[in-house]
Amino acid sequence: MKRRLAVLLPFVFLATFAVRAMAQTPPAQTPPAAPRGNAQQTLPPPQETEVWEPVPPVVTPGASYGMPPSDAIVLFDGKNLDEWVTTSDKSPAKWTVHDGVVTVAKRTGNIETKRTFKNYQLHIEWQIPEAITGNDQARGNSGVFLASTGNGDAGYELQVLDSYNNKTYVNGQAASIYKQFIPLANAMRKPGEWQTYDVVWTAPTFNADGSLKTPAYVTAFHNGVLAQDHVQLKGETVFRGKPEYKAYDRAPIKLQDHGDPSPAISFRNIWVRELK
Ligand code: MG
Repeated sequence: MKRRLAVLLPFVFLATFAVRAMAQTPPAQTPPAAPRGNAQQTLPPPQETEVWEPVPPVVTPGASYGMPPSDAIVLFDGKNLDEWVTTSDKSPAKWTVHDGVVTVAKRTGNIETKRTFKNYQLHIEWQIPEAITGNDQARGNSGVFLASTGNGDAGYELQVLDSYNNKTYVNGQAASIYKQFIPLANAMRKPGEWQTYDVVWTAPTFNADGSLKTPAYVTAFHNGVLAQDHVQLKGETVFRGKPEYKAYDRAPIKLQDHGDPSPAISFRNIWVRELK
């Protein structure tokens, strides 16, 4: 009997070891659940939606925010008004260049670029004098005409005004599309501080008979805050009456000498990137 036990013991030991070892063996990897139906076969290859051309042009951004990128046309860099003329007679612009900025010379008239544009991205900075006076529309009024379609205020005006604690009709405050679109926010800095506008202008297009083909659109940021979100313009901006479109092809960008009696405002760092 003792001897039988002695013979069986190693088997009992081995059997116990084998059971333990099996218990510790991780189960074989279960294959992933088969997709229902044949969805796996119908999934398109990811390459199908990859687009490799056209490769966007390389544009070197400005050294800091607001500085012109490498493909910008600089319209005013603080030195002179060589890119600008007086709107009314196309004579040299008479506004005052000093200290790297240009200040409206009141009653010398609107000025506009010599170059003409269709679609573009524009950057422009402007400053209401710290000692501004007046109220409502007579307080630092000027304007950026995104397309100048004639003398005076003909065109499409993005309003410039002191809207820091200055009540006026809201479709005529700073960053409005004058009398067409109220800005989405009032992002005005205090008088004396510099303001920025960054604008995307999609010019209207016209049929051969002068009728409107596609309307103008404006997206505009005021001090980096979205003020106009791809608004579809109703026509040129007008002081009185209803806006209407008038056919044109290319147009200058115009700055307004408004003529209100408040101290003159200034502009600086103006550049544009033409868009297709
Ligand atoms: Mg104005």
